[in-house]
Amino acid sequence: MQINRRNFFKIAGATAALPLASATAAEAKKKAPSPNAVGCLVDTTLCVGCRKCEQACNQRNHLPQPKQSFEEMAVLENLRRMDDTSFTVVNKYYPHNIGTLAWRQRPTYVKFQCMHCADPSCVSACIVGALSKAPNGAVVYDANKCIGCRYCMIACPFQVPAYEYHDALTPQVRKCTFCFAQIKDGGLPACAQVCPREVITFGPRDQLLKLARWKMKNNPGKYHERIYGEREVGGTSWLYLASEPFENIGFPDLSPTPPPRLTESIQHAITSYLAVPLGLYGVLGGIMWLSGYLKKSQEAEMGGREQKEDKEAGNE
Ligand code: SF4
Ligand code: SF4
Ligand code: SF4
Repeated sequence: MQINRRNFFKIAGATAALPLASATAAEAKKKAPSPNAVGCLVDTTLCVGCRKCEQACNQRNHLPQPKQSFEEMAVLENLRRMDDTSFTVVNKYYPHNIGTLAWRQRPTYVKFQCMHCADPSCVSACIVGALSKAPNGAVVYDANKCIGCRYCMIACPFQVPAYEYHDALTPQVRKCTFCFAQIKDGGLPACAQVCPREVITFGPRDQLLKLARWKMKNNPGKYHERIYGEREVGGTSWLYLASEPFENIGFPDLSPTPPPRLTESIQHAITSYLAVPLGLYGVLGGIMWLSGYLKKSQEAEMGGREQKEDKEAGNE
């Protein structure tokens, strides 16, 4: 590459622009739930732990039959997590706040699955775009893009994505799909469709929040005063009502700031702080490279001149 004054100032200009670019990226706003987002409101006070939702999910997603049948209620005595063969599980929690009201004396059953976060950590962590956020709020997975790095599993604050470790050839990350193929065409999630107690209400997320507030207002004392998923990690498509504080029934206590905003701010801060020294190093490097180039050119020129002078002297 021929270096000249114009090229040198181009390099210097590019390095000096780095801090500005990083500062702009650091101002990236928190991604709010989309106005077109749909969701599910799970009223845990209605759930009887029948596991019909687990069975419907299993069938719709063509998952293998579990070792113990879906009629087996003893499985509820152990807390379970979603895995590659169960995209949703129902867990049973014995009450902490036993009172005189009948609904306080019964266990709380909670159906868990992917929360379909508004600003999903799994999407942010995936370096190849195998996980993406659809306009209707569903977080969908593309096995063709996945390279099996499993960063999504580490990033998820709800520990949802599971991996097919048993499959040596074509392992996939597995999680609730939000029945995307059905809901995009106006259908219902299988779990919401099958629930005999109408625990799961599917609809536009903003309407579900209104319904949750209406329920709380019209049933004083029944619900714990919080809609889980309204604010946690920036909001989730799946929302919950419960009679117990959520930390008593398996929900992590999470900040309203989506984890991707925190990690990206840290990354951008590091980039900003590093950009100034890097820019200076770039400029210094450019100066050193230019000096070296000029020195070599000078030496070459001098060598050529000496050779010419010798030649001329020899000719005399
Ligand atoms: S089908 Fe409904 S009532 Fe039965 S466990 Fe699932 S959410 Fe609860
Ligand atoms: S719950 Fe986990 S897997 Fe589901 S969208 Fe949120 S970060 Fe992704
Ligand atoms: S939305 Fe579909 S994939 Fe998700 S838990 Fe319900 S049935 Fe399973």
